Amino acid sequence: ADKIPASDLPQPVKVQQVRHTKIFINNEWHTSISGRTFPTLNPATGDTICQVQEGDKEDVDEAVAAARAAMQHGSAWRRMGPSRRGRLLHRLADLVERDRLLLATLESLDTGKPFLQAFFIDLEGSIETLRYYAGWADKIHGRTVPVDKTFMSITKHEPVGVCGAIIPWNFPLLMLMWKIAPALSCGNTVVVKPAEQTPLTALHIGSLIKEAEFPPGVVNIVPGFGSTAGAAIAIHGGIDKVAFTGSTEVGQLIKEAAAKSNLKRVTLELGGKNPCIVFDDCDLQLAVEEIQKGAFYNQGQCCTAASRVFVQESIYEEFVRLSVEKAKKIVIGDPLDPRTTHGPQIDQRQFDKIMDLIESGKKEGAKLEYGGGAVGEKGLFIQPTIFSEVKDSMRIAKEEIFGPVLSLFSFKSQQEAVERANDSRYGLVSAVFTTSMDRALSVSGAMETGTVWINCYNALHVQTPFGGYKMSGNGRELGEYALAEYSEVKTVTFKMNPTM
Ligand code: NAD
Repeated sequence: ADKIPASDLPQPVKVQQVRHTKIFINNEWHTSISGRTFPTLNPATGDTICQVQEGDKEDVDEAVAAARAAMQHGSAWRRMGPSRRGRLLHRLADLVERDRLLLATLESLDTGKPFLQAFFIDLEGSIETLRYYAGWADKIHGRTVPVDKTFMSITKHEPVGVCGAIIPWNFPLLMLMWKIAPALSCGNTVVVKPAEQTPLTALHIGSLIKEAEFPPGVVNIVPGFGSTAGAAIAIHGGIDKVAFTGSTEVGQLIKEAAAKSNLKRVTLELGGKNPCIVFDDCDLQLAVEEIQKGAFYNQGQCCTAASRVFVQESIYEEFVRLSVEKAKKIVIGDPLDPRTTHGPQIDQRQFDKIMDLIESGKKEGAKLEYGGGAVGEKGLFIQPTIFSEVKDSMRIAKEEIFGPVLSLFSFKSQQEAVERANDSRYGLVSAVFTTSMDRALSVSGAMETGTVWINCYNALHVQTPFGGYKMSGNGRELGEYALAEYSEVKTVTFKMNPTM
């Protein structure tokens, strides 16, 4: 966006009334069986955007029945050739491109994220994800396996079946695409539950699924709460796999429900307490910029947030000074204003949790270098906050904050930095800043995280797998690896004629 003249920047559309607020099953819109609705709020103002139909267990049952019917042998979806599945995903990508301004506006209203970030990051990533998995649809194949004696074996990659998808509120559209694109590419059907804070873009996608002419029942979307609709998906005997992104605590509940019900396959993308190690031979300006992006992007509401930054002693003071200088340039304001780079937190609960952790940092003796307070009377805005002199034992060093808080630690030796970086129950991402190739290779080898960024941050690509070590999750999203999470492998063995 920096390179585009202000007059050419995309503009949010005026949303008078939100069109899609109902439950989407079998390509039709339904009111909830209970008759209940819930409000979705604009976190920048606290105003209700609209009421949404509140799905519960009974609505999930209907969605699963539709998804199972669409998955039956002989159904339109099962008979459809793989290249046609790819065409449908491309068509969906075309429609998302057509409605890009509206989708970015809805995402900004519902989450509070700056409109331009929604437009350039979330929408771009969503379209890329659809196109990438559209391309895979007719390239998912098994092998011919040489086996002993007079047999021949082949493997076939088949869809798992009905896939549940439970989506978080920090990247509602993008996380939806990370789940449905590989699921549909592999020939599965899906039942989606968007986060209760942010259902609007997923529901708009429902209308595009229908317009793209996916057969009824292939994609079903049930807005509702976690403990009701979400839990119903996790425990459902008619769901074969569930993919979840959210908190580690709920991830554990999902796995437990899966184990207790039908042992459905589970992939989890959970929290992080992501370490960065900044060595004294690094490009300091680059490190400050990338780490700040990592810490404050999306108001710090990222599972990948850079939250433990270990800086080598000799450059520590300079790093703190440059970080504060840079944080001062962040523009807090109305998310729909193109000048805004920092919006509100998602809801009161998260706001209170973040403020409590900031207070704990002050009380436990970390040095507040910048920010640390709320902004304005209305909305849920928190200043980008920088603490120095943070100790490993402090709460801000251990707990996932999910807010705009950057904690700076100092270290002496490489071994010490690696040991402290790995001393966490999480293992999602890490970053290393150095100009030494040797050091980059050895430290990246030692990091206990699913992704290691060298001299960059948040460098996510649809082609590369993403997921966590330890309690940051199970399985991988994106890339070719995600296809394995949405496929069952079947071995077919033929008895051959021994005389041939
Ligand atoms: P959450 O885990 O409660 O919510 C994520 C999704 O899970 C939502 O769709 C929610 O409705 C659903 N859910 C909640 N309880 C459920 C249950 N019992 N069964 C099935 N589904 C359920 O997250 P939250 O409460 O909104 O946020 C709390 C913390 O979670 C944050 O502070 C942050 O640390 C973490 N979080 C992480 C991510 C991520 O990207 N990894 C995203 C959102 C939140």
